[in-house]
Amino acid sequence: MPGLIRRSDIDEVRSRTEIVDVIGEQVALKRAGVGSMKGLCPFHDERTPSFTVRSGVGRYHCFGCGEDGDVFTFLQRTEHLSFSESVERLAGRIGYQLTYEDGERAADTSNRARLLKANAAAAEYFQDQLGRDEAQPARDFLVDRGFDQQAALDFGVGYAPRGYESLSRHLLANGFGKDEILAAGLVGSGERGLYDRFRGRLVWPIRDVTGQPVGFGARKLYDDDNGPKYLNTPETPVFHKSQVLYGLDKARREVNKQRRVVVVEGYTDVMACHLAGITTAVATCGTSFGVDHIKLMRRVMGDFEVADQRGAGQVIFTFDPDEAGQKAASRAFAEEQRFASQTFVAVPPEGLDPADLWLHKGAGAVQEMIEGRKPLFEFMLRRVLAGHDLDTVEGRVQALRATAPIVANIRDRALHDGYARELAGWLGEDLEAVRQAVAGARGRVIATSDSPGRIAIEAVTAAAAMPPEEEGQGDRWKQGGDRKPWQQDGERKPWQDGERRRQDRPRVVVPDEQGRYAPDDRDAPPTEEELARAPQQSAPDPRASDPGPARHRATPSDEHAPERVGASIAELPSDVNTRVERDALQAILQHPEFFGEDLLRAASRAAFASGLLAVVRDGLAVAIEAGPPVNGAEWLDRIAREVPPHYAGLVRELGVLTAPVRDEENLERWATDIVVSLVDRDLLRQKVELLGRLRRSEGDAEGHRAIQHELVALEEQRRTLRGE
Ligand SMILES: [Zn+2]
Repeated sequence: MPGLIRRSDIDEVRSRTEIVDVIGEQVALKRAGVGSMKGLCPFHDERTPSFTVRSGVGRYHCFGCGEDGDVFTFLQRTEHLSFSESVERLAGRIGYQLTYEDGERAADTSNRARLLKANAAAAEYFQDQLGRDEAQPARDFLVDRGFDQQAALDFGVGYAPRGYESLSRHLLANGFGKDEILAAGLVGSGERGLYDRFRGRLVWPIRDVTGQPVGFGARKLYDDDNGPKYLNTPETPVFHKSQVLYGLDKARREVNKQRRVVVVEGYTDVMACHLAGITTAVATCGTSFGVDHIKLMRRVMGDFEVADQRGAGQVIFTFDPDEAGQKAASRAFAEEQRFASQTFVAVPPEGLDPADLWLHKGAGAVQEMIEGRKPLFEFMLRRVLAGHDLDTVEGRVQALRATAPIVANIRDRALHDGYARELAGWLGEDLEAVRQAVAGARGRVIATSDSPGRIAIEAVTAAAAMPPEEEGQGDRWKQGGDRKPWQQDGERKPWQDGERRRQDRPRVVVPDEQGRYAPDDRDAPPTEEELARAPQQSAPDPRASDPGPARHRATPSDEHAPERVGASIAELPSDVNTRVERDALQAILQHPEFFGEDLLRAASRAAFASGLLAVVRDGLAVAIEAGPPVNGAEWLDRIAREVPPHYAGLVRELGVLTAPVRDEENLERWATDIVVSLVDRDLLRQKVELLGRLRRSEGDAEGHRAIQHELVALEEQRRTLRGE
């Protein structure tokens, strides 16, 4: 077999690599005892660290979800590398020369690795172009904003020439394929062939937390450029704007050390802050601050929940005083509960953004701005109050009604009374009345200490306790009923034996007309983003204007939830879980022939994070009951028929998406891998559930044993599934 890395080399790389350093690049670790470190698990969502790394044995293990492995497995799982790629990555890291069995290096097999290389080559090219004559306007731009050559170098800032084929020619000449540079989002494809996406622009490489360029942000420089002021790499297999923070690779160490992160709005703000000594500054890239950013940040910061020690970590937002900045503040506030850290807002004086502040007033002014931060709660209270006429009784009553839930939502109860006092002062109301309003709002709030971001979701799912019916559709997609499943005599694979049998009959559950989704018990609650974007079939709920305790109602950002006529892929959030679900459905919808019936059934029963995709999954479950597909078109039609009409478009979209692979041979591997990881993820979820039950069953010896048996069976299924 060509390109195999020598066994002894693999062992050498492993022994020379400090696992704590490698994992530490992605997960903040703290000492947990002799020879072991702990952090927030990158494989499951948790609030207190149960992910343990042992340097001496070179392995990690999560006591929450059971994930376990060595330094190579870690990179395989988190960076989606193949085994040899993970060895190569780590060998490169320590400067170790690998020897291959047949003397030559294996060709790159993974699409992802090639896309990362293309991005790295483009970053180098852009940087090189910044020194050319043509780049004078780009250098002027930097100098005008106070950035010298060293600053440009530190941040890898570059210049994209004005020509249509400058970068593409360079990359093609350097061995990259057309499909690769297209998939990396570096070029577009038009009638006359490939053209460079970024032309005549100043370019910032956007790097992942380990420092690899995954995409670019580009600012226009020329008046005849009709494009937007800032242009970003589109979503690609390696660039997901909702999951990357500009500057985090640079800020990572300080963020972890200071347990503080400063969120600014633009690339130049990040540069200015770092130059001003605020070395923990990061920014989102062409999107607003969201849930995935928070997860990433918490992991890097080591944002643990520590009893009675809240306040160890600090998240500081800076918002422009304009309308967009105010909206950004509301959005950040809506997610505030997800942090264990304290959240603050720092407002730059005189309507300047941090970059201007640094340029005109110097580093001291930027530091003062950060020091003058105010708690996010206080900022929001003042903002809500500013929207009411406090000179009238009605205005004050409304203002109290709107602000009491904000105070009631502050996790640190000790602060409630202080804020009630402040509020009473600002409103000119009786303290007792304010206290009562806060207590009233609190009574309706669900405890959140172990479940970040849960308030809104609990409130919504409670309101949607009954699964809704699509009017006029009757039971059509509800019953597999008396249809015969195909291959009834087929042998069951062992991994399916312990499968949940609770869902006896497939049925399709859809979000109701308010866009609420009543999940069955296997599904995660929908995200607020999904709720806000779910298809709307009728006028918004009039109750939504009632300033109740549900935080999603209190945030102005969803006031203008768009009216949609059909579900679409474009509405899906781009977190890892949703992507796995989307890709797995895509694979199954396009190539049912790749899969055995057992695997298909397991996938159709897996828990989904995305409410929209769960509808398609349910359609799939019904379609499976109708027998094997006649051909690809018939299969797709069948599933489209089984979902409510306004989801049919989503099914069609999944049916035509391009798979991120280069040839037929890789297609089947990709499709199988992704469906297997969906099912494996579901088994892992069941395992976490069982482990929880196991802990609770102490003292019930028989129950304990039964659960242990289930656990063993489940592990057996996972091993079989992975082909181990
Ligand atoms: Zn875990």
